[in-house]
Amino acid sequence: MRDKQSGEPILNLRESILGPEQRARAINELGTREFDLLVIGGGVTGAGVALDAASRGLSVALVEKRDWAAGTSSRSGKLFHGGLRYLEQFNFGLVREALHERGLMLEKLCPHLVQPIQFIYPLKHRVWERWYMGAGLFLYDTMGGAGAVPRHKHLSKKRILQMAPGLTSEGMIGGISFYDAQVDDSRHTMELVRTAAAFGAVAAPALQVIGLTHDHVGKVDGAIVQDLESKKEMRIRAHHVVNATGVWTDEIQNFAGGRADFTVQASKGVHILVPRDRIDSTISIFVRAEDSVLFVRTWGNHWLIGTTDTAWNNELDHPAATSTDIEYLLRNVNRVLNVKLTEADIDGVYAGLRPLIKGEEGATSDLSREHAVQTPVPGFTTIAGGKYTTYRVMAEDAVNESIKQLNLSGIAIGAPHSDTAHIPLIGARGFDQAAQEIRSQANTLGLSAVTVDRLLRRYGSMVSDLIVLMRSRPGIGKTNHRWCRVFAGGGRVCGHP
Ligand SMILES: Cc1cc2nc3c(=O)[nH]c(=O)nc-3n(C[C@H](O)[C@H](O)[C@H](O)COP(=O)(O)OP(=O)(O)OC[C@H]3O[C@@H](n4cnc5c(N)ncnc54)[C@H](O)[C@@H]3O)c2cc1C
Repeated sequence: MRDKQSGEPILNLRESILGPEQRARAINELGTREFDLLVIGGGVTGAGVALDAASRGLSVALVEKRDWAAGTSSRSGKLFHGGLRYLEQFNFGLVREALHERGLMLEKLCPHLVQPIQFIYPLKHRVWERWYMGAGLFLYDTMGGAGAVPRHKHLSKKRILQMAPGLTSEGMIGGISFYDAQVDDSRHTMELVRTAAAFGAVAAPALQVIGLTHDHVGKVDGAIVQDLESKKEMRIRAHHVVNATGVWTDEIQNFAGGRADFTVQASKGVHILVPRDRIDSTISIFVRAEDSVLFVRTWGNHWLIGTTDTAWNNELDHPAATSTDIEYLLRNVNRVLNVKLTEADIDGVYAGLRPLIKGEEGATSDLSREHAVQTPVPGFTTIAGGKYTTYRVMAEDAVNESIKQLNLSGIAIGAPHSDTAHIPLIGARGFDQAAQEIRSQANTLGLSAVTVDRLLRRYGSMVSDLIVLMRSRPGIGKTNHRWCRVFAGGGRVCGHP
């Protein structure tokens, strides 16, 4: 069903809830129905595939071995960006596509979860660097960057230091400001799953695929999964299976009995979090590092600083930061700060693994950020690579390929083209109206402006449901966060705001 005014599909919000009851129901359905598509992997790619397919009318099952976004999709740099670095690699196609996606997210699909973020890039060389970066950012703006966000601006040294007094003035001749967009990645992935479920996808976490099943001619026709809570095993039947497991791609391919021409190389990226008062700046900072770039941006009460880029050939479930990673981040960020950060300033560290399509020998920073879709075995398509920003395009490609294969194997699916560019995620439709509603009631509900903003950014138009809850149980709106700071030496301080 579609909204008469906007023409957008109307979502079944009741079906989108992902609680334990719904999981139990989903498991029951997964064990009894036969699906058009079984999607393995509940990161942004798998969730995107599930939404794309379900919104085209396919019956879809989605399984995730841990929790939604528990893999790379909760450990990213949290940017919807075109990728200035890819401009330097002359990968204009990727940048243009990513900027288009960034605009869609900001303006239409999930404006509550994605916000513009302004960076400054301090310059050290008067002529060539200003020209080089200015030309790159001009291209960035003209390729579709500007519109959803303001254009880049050249700034004097004085202006930069007003905005970011914590930057070292030594050697700085001025700077440039530009915009990208920031997202709460794990929440975004979860809302994608919810939106897919609202379109009828049957989704369950803590279900690990431990094998694939084949029919009498060798076509993949489902999977064996283990429920990691009950330890029970069951079979899920599907006409086609999509492998969207990121760095775990090869593990699932081994079950299929055939593999795509590409392999996936895990590349580790580490971020650190330091308290907001450690860097005196009102604006996020773009830093050129030894062999790449660093983004220093605000994240709640912290600065999020990252990232690194090194090959990872160990345990995929538990990527870990090393002291070399931390030293690299501190050394490079300290190049632009007047009060240097030390290990004692670090409140948190996380590491994630980029699923990069493996190319020629070389550094992982040179491997492709583009994605690949292949069907190495009938009934089984693998989608891998790409970036968080381009998940929607990846999903569309994977579903197009799956429908092609379904048609080839005689299962006629009269599925229309992808419509996800016109499907706002749960919480997006009615966002402005809900924002007005909660702001006008903030005083009576006892909510500070900061809390209102945080709730809106988290729940979007679903804050209306929260308001109903807060009215029926007044204590529920009170913030009661206990915070703890763990020091590098093992010490710990906790308190209340
Ligand atoms: C440090 C870092 C920074 C990044 N920064 C950015 C950024 O700022 N912007 C950007 O656009 N991109 C960024 N990326 C890239 C982006 O995060 C990834 O491309 C994207 O999250 C990959 O999503 P995915 O769904 O393919 O993989 P994942 O999120 O890893 O999802 C795969 C899922 O499959 C599940 N799975 C595995 N095996 C099984 C099984 N047997 N059964 C069931 N489920 C299984 C896993 O548990 C996992 O949840 C960054 C990546 C890293 C590492």
